[in-house]
Parts: sequence; structure tokens; C-alpha cells
Amino acid sequence: MRMLKMLILPLITSSLMSGLSSMESKACCRMGVLTVTYYLWTTFIAVVVGIVLVIIIKPGVGTEMESNRLGGGPVMTSADALLDLIRNMVPSNLIEATFQQYKTDLIPILKVPARTIQPNFVYVVPDDSDLKGQTVYLELTPPPEVLYKTSPGSSQQMNVLGIVIFSATMGLLLGRMGERGAPLVNVCQCINECVMKIINAAVWYFPFGIIFLVAGKILDMQDPSTLGKKLGWYGITVLAGLFVHGLVLLPLFYFILTRKNPFSYIRGLLQAMVIALATSSSSATLPITMKCLLENCHVDRQIARFVLPVGATINMDGTALYEAVAAIFIAQVNDYELDFGQLVTISITATAASIGAAGIPQAGLVTMVIVLTSVGLPPDDITLIVAIDWILDRFRTMINVLGDALAAGIIAHLCRKDFPLSGVGKSVPSYGT
Ligand code: ASP
Repeated sequence: MRMLKMLILPLITSSLMSGLSSMESKACCRMGVLTVTYYLWTTFIAVVVGIVLVIIIKPGVGTEMESNRLGGGPVMTSADALLDLIRNMVPSNLIEATFQQYKTDLIPILKVPARTIQPNFVYVVPDDSDLKGQTVYLELTPPPEVLYKTSPGSSQQMNVLGIVIFSATMGLLLGRMGERGAPLVNVCQCINECVMKIINAAVWYFPFGIIFLVAGKILDMQDPSTLGKKLGWYGITVLAGLFVHGLVLLPLFYFILTRKNPFSYIRGLLQAMVIALATSSSSATLPITMKCLLENCHVDRQIARFVLPVGATINMDGTALYEAVAAIFIAQVNDYELDFGQLVTISITATAASIGAAGIPQAGLVTMVIVLTSVGLPPDDITLIVAIDWILDRFRTMINVLGDALAAGIIAHLCRKDFPLSGVGKSVPSYGT
């Protein structure tokens, strides 16, 4: 994880600055608009798939599972998420943006690891607490081994969106400067080449890393028999939705838009998917996704360098689908009838919440509070699903990564006139050329 995270910053800055410097502004605009439109559309479709499945399967209907409602009011709204996204686009301090996200308006909520759930405890951090932004250890009786991290804005994470916007702007301006900008463009190209070489070297270590990442989680796992049948059905619903979206609908879109075989393209992405499964983080997987796209799928460098970092930040189909299923599951457990208007609200807020979620493990669990509060469901009820979230997180991250990578192939095809070398399957020059 650390190796991959180490590479995110140099990869994004160097690839965007060198990639966009050789692009026309008009072509860049077209690519940007297509990318964002495609991302929003597929995220919304993912939510609809989730809603349809959870309504058909009804995993939460019945009485076997008790809601652990713990009181407390709404903590975060869709407006907060949207405003955060806009604020994150323009970091006030670029250096700070490389290690911390700017989300000051959020009241902290608690993220509780699965094995520490204690249904009878009340987990509250006061609104005016200065614990905001910090890791908090609470003493409870009996003392559980609890690590509370105030989230989402407080966890130390890179503001990828801010860095993407800054680097893209710099890249475009460098391109306009012509000869004068060339030295810096060359530096960025060299850095990019080195980063890709480091990624290639790091790949050899991954099998060991993956074994330890997964083994640690398995040791932490709760006894599955205590999780209950409903939670099992809920998990199956999410996985079925991810399967339908990731392996049926997205490939279908790819085929319709490019007329190429989506599965041979997906075969080139297997390494990235395994890393996504192991790390539960689309940001950490970014270097490998980039490598797969460039080396196996032969997507145009300029397109991959733009579409992937943006996708790792705002395009999370798997997360959106999961948030919609989870919200409706919680409504079913609470015996709460959702009308059509509320389902529409869930689809819009789940889309917004997935855009606002960072590409880090279990970020979707945190932004789900937006979806729950938008339809009047108790935000504390996320404790119902937290026990199996770590495993669902791995699969939804895979679909998030797959969605970004397929998008890059589609955008490359749609923009092939602007980028003559674009198009999957064509060979492209190697780095630094
Ligand atoms: N772990 C996911 C990702 O990095 C986000 C989430 O759904 O929690 O893409």
C-alpha cells in the first residue's frame, strides 16, 4: 500500500503536466466534457441497478435483525458533499493538499472497524468537539479495542482532485508557452518515465504484499455465523449488482460505443483489478491501472493520464451502487416504506455521495450518511452493515477501477480524431517520446 501511495503524487503531477502540454485546448475541453458526462451517466446507471436488485431481493425484510439506532441527528448532507467537492477543486495550499483534504464544514462522524462494533454503546462525538480531525481513542466499559477516527474530512489523505486540476492547468499553460515551457515539460516526462519504472519494479513485490494485506483482514474477521442471514443476503445483493454492472452493463457500453471486444480489453486490466481487491483503494491502485492501460490496452497516453486520475476521484460506480443498496436495505430492516420520490432522492444522493467519496478504503461507508439522512433514515444504522463492509469494499473498488479503465478506452475511441494515436489496440510510442 505504501509503495503504491508513494507513487500517486509524482504520477498524477508528472503525467498530467507532460500529457496535457502537448494538447490543443479545444481537444482537451472536448475530452473533459465527454469524460465527466460519461462518468455521471454510468454512476447513475449503477445506482439504478442497485435499487432494482435490492427491491427485488428484499434482503432486509423480516424481523431477524434489530436496528441499533443510537440517536443523534443528521451529520452530513448532499450539499456538504457537493460544496466539499468544489472546495477541493481549488486547494488553498498546494503543499497541504498533498496530504490533507479540506473538509472543514463537516461535523465528525465515527468510522468503526467491523470487529469493534458494540451494539450497546452510544458512539457520540460532540459537534463542537476539538477532536475533529483527529484519531480518538475512547475508554468504554468493558473496554473494547476501539479506534475511532473522525471522518470523512479529517483522515489524512491527499486532495487528488485539487492536484489534478492544478496539474492539468499547468500542463495546458506549459503547452501554450512553447519553447519556453519545454524544459519543464521534459522534466515532467523524465519523472513520469522514472515513476513508471518504479511501478514495474514494485509489481514484483505485490504477491507478498497482497498475501499480508488479505491475511491481516481474515484474522480480524468476525465469525460469519454471527452475521445473520439478512446481512448475507444484503452482501449477495451488492455483489450481484456489482457483477451485473461491471461485467455486463459496462462492457456492453464499451462494445456499443467502440465496437470492440470489451473482454479482451478487461483481460489487460487483471493486474489492476487484483490490486484493487487487495488494497480496497482506487487511488492506491492508480499507478497499476495506468500501467495496465498503457502497456496492455495501449490507450493513448494523453487520454489515460487525464481520464484515470479524474476517474479515481469522481467516478465510483461500485460505491454508488453499494450506497443505494445499503440505504434501501437499512430502510427494509427498519420497516420503513420508501415511496418513489424517496427512491429518486436515494439515486441522486448516492450518485453525489460516491462522487464525494475518496478513493480510500471504506470511504463509501462514511459518505453513505448523506444518503441515509436525505430520506430520514438513522445515520447510526450504518453499524448494521459495517461487519461485512471490508469485503464488499474490495469488490466495489474493483468495479470502480474497472469503470475508470473502460471509460479511458471509450473516451480514447470517441476522441480518436483529436488524438490520432488513440484507440485501443494501436501501438503507441513508449515513454518520453
Ligand atoms: N474503497 C473505495 C475506493 O477506493 C471507496 C469506497 O467505496 O469506500 O474506490
